[in-house]
Amino acid sequence: MTLYLKNAAFVDWQSLKVTGTCLAVEEGPQKGISLIAAIPPQDKLAKGDRVLDCAGKLVTRSFGCGHHHIYSTLARGMPAPQKVPVNFVEILKYIWWHLDKCLELEMIEASALASGIFCAKNGVTLIIDHHASPFAIKDSLFTIAKAFDRVGVSHLLCYEISDRDGEGPREAGLAETDAFLTGGYQGHVGLHASFTVGDGLLEKAIALAKKHDTGLHMHVAEDLADQEETITRYGRRVVERLQQAGALDLKTSILSHCIHLSKHEKELMRESGVWVAQNVESNQNNNVGLAPYKSITDKVLLGTDGMHSDMLRSAKAAFLAGQATEGIGFDEIYRRFRNVHRYAREFGVRGDTENNLVVLNYDAPTEVTSDNFLGHFVYGIDSRHVTTVICQGKVIVEEGKMATVHEAEVLAFAREMGKRLWDKMQRVQV
Ligand SMILES: [Zn+2]
Repeated sequence: MTLYLKNAAFVDWQSLKVTGTCLAVEEGPQKGISLIAAIPPQDKLAKGDRVLDCAGKLVTRSFGCGHHHIYSTLARGMPAPQKVPVNFVEILKYIWWHLDKCLELEMIEASALASGIFCAKNGVTLIIDHHASPFAIKDSLFTIAKAFDRVGVSHLLCYEISDRDGEGPREAGLAETDAFLTGGYQGHVGLHASFTVGDGLLEKAIALAKKHDTGLHMHVAEDLADQEETITRYGRRVVERLQQAGALDLKTSILSHCIHLSKHEKELMRESGVWVAQNVESNQNNNVGLAPYKSITDKVLLGTDGMHSDMLRSAKAAFLAGQATEGIGFDEIYRRFRNVHRYAREFGVRGDTENNLVVLNYDAPTEVTSDNFLGHFVYGIDSRHVTTVICQGKVIVEEGKMATVHEAEVLAFAREMGKRLWDKMQRVQV
């Protein structure tokens, strides 16, 4: 089956060349796209072929999220916590750890379906997620994968294992990860953060990652507390601890945040070649500081940290925050925005292919050219311009409406699950 995009302004995501063209988009995980001069006449189209008119619209590669938390989806608008947190560790304790402990599989399903829809409608077709639900671990990753498959987005999942809730959830997290990766799904071995991960667990996680030829996905030095606790308990800083344990040898690892690193830790990061996920809006929201990533590595992915599912918004936020922290330019923020494809290609991640496309109804007041595209990217193009989204050659959003799942039904289900979650959070003492 071929999907034809007629009369598009196609922006090559790497060269930024803007070409007035038609496109033939083949459906399937190993398929691609080709630029063609004209659409075949109606009688030459095969059964199932479709033609979408893209006159006046930009078409380019769709987007990816380097660090998401679908488990936070039902938090939006929830009642105030039982105690108002005064620092980062209290934010975890009174908000996120209380919420994730109350999650049940049905709520996880609703969270994944709703966030999957939000991602899709924002043009995000690859989601790298970091999940937590300490008392509903078994089948949680399979549930999320199934939900994302229904929405039609690609994924790279993990469960954030830790020692914070004792042996039961720790072992269940290891077992769920092993079962998920053994089942042929792609993902990481997830860990919460150094200060909630003991040496025994760290060792087991690295062994499990080696067994499945993958990396770790964890939070690193998001707040100073992670460094302070790690130094107190283990006598060394977070990245030094990871390096000594062998975690930095796992090249597909994604270390999220990396805000509070020493010069030596930055050197270790750079030499190792592991990846960092940057989430400035979350960092500002939690008041944990911001990092100058240029001083750490050029292997930086952009994420949302579960605050939302809009990567164009994340890029703009990182660009603006980056003026003060590292004097970032258009080219560097765009490179970080697109690094998710380089990451996927380098490590053979399935589902991030050239036939993932977004159609933008971008009503620019000035001409869009190869030379000025990055100016439009930073100051003009945003998620409201996303009309049609194609993942692996298949239309998953058409003219702003989900083509794969019934959005209103999913959101009604999510609201029902949200209410159940909030009631439970009020009943259960932190
Ligand atoms: Zn996170």
